[in-house]
Amino acid sequence: MKLTILGSGTVDPQPHRASSGYHLQTSVGGFFLDLGSGTLRRAVAAGVQPHAVEKLFLSHLHPDHTADIVPLLFARKYAPAPWPQAGSLSIYGPQGTVDFLNAVFSAWPSIKPAEEAALRVIELPLEEQQILDEDSVSVGVVPVEHGDMNAFAYWVKDDEKLLVYSGDTRLCNGIKNAAWGADLFVCECSCFPRGCEPLHCREVHLSWEDVAEICEQANPLAVILTHLYEPVLAATPNPLDSLKQRLEIPVYLAADGDVYEL
Ligand SMILES: [Zn+2]
Ligand SMILES: [Zn+2]
Repeated sequence: MKLTILGSGTVDPQPHRASSGYHLQTSVGGFFLDLGSGTLRRAVAAGVQPHAVEKLFLSHLHPDHTADIVPLLFARKYAPAPWPQAGSLSIYGPQGTVDFLNAVFSAWPSIKPAEEAALRVIELPLEEQQILDEDSVSVGVVPVEHGDMNAFAYWVKDDEKLLVYSGDTRLCNGIKNAAWGADLFVCECSCFPRGCEPLHCREVHLSWEDVAEICEQANPLAVILTHLYEPVLAATPNPLDSLKQRLEIPVYLAADGDVYEL
């Protein structure tokens, strides 16, 4: 598998970080994991051919994970070659995804695919399950806790390699279970360190101490910190340095355009 970070950022618009989004090249084709604002352009810049991606997996429906669905569907409908060659797109997401897309289509009727077969929406109940099994590739979801959102962590297994993506989550059993034994764990780290956080932060996101706790229990082989706020990265103690000190596995900081092979 080849992971390309399309967006390592958040709701905070930053020139060097698009909102959340990832491209995963597997042996059965390319996947998008979330598609926040700015990620579609990052995909093109990274050499990903977005028209050829036929599966989009949504962790939850916050705008910083979904906004580029609009330009994606618009391009699939009207952009010049190679876009007319695009096959059917499947969007997997939590309960509410069908209503969400219908609301988007009523705001922008022009992005609704002309033919029903061009878009398949798979709405997933909030339970741990495998959702795809194609040749050597399988994909599954594990519910996580993220405020009042229906939210998932995703796991993708290809040829015995396991990638886990946290989506957005607070510290909960779901994310500990999801990360279990991952070869590569792409984990949000958007909360201030314990003791200096805004009070609401740890109810919806992970601090570096939370990431440490998850990794110590779930034993991933490597972790990439993502969903990054600059003021959090600048905090003392520094999340990246602190985690590197505490964990015995490689700890990376996501940057847009970075590629990881596994
Ligand atoms: Zn969120
Ligand atoms: Zn987010």
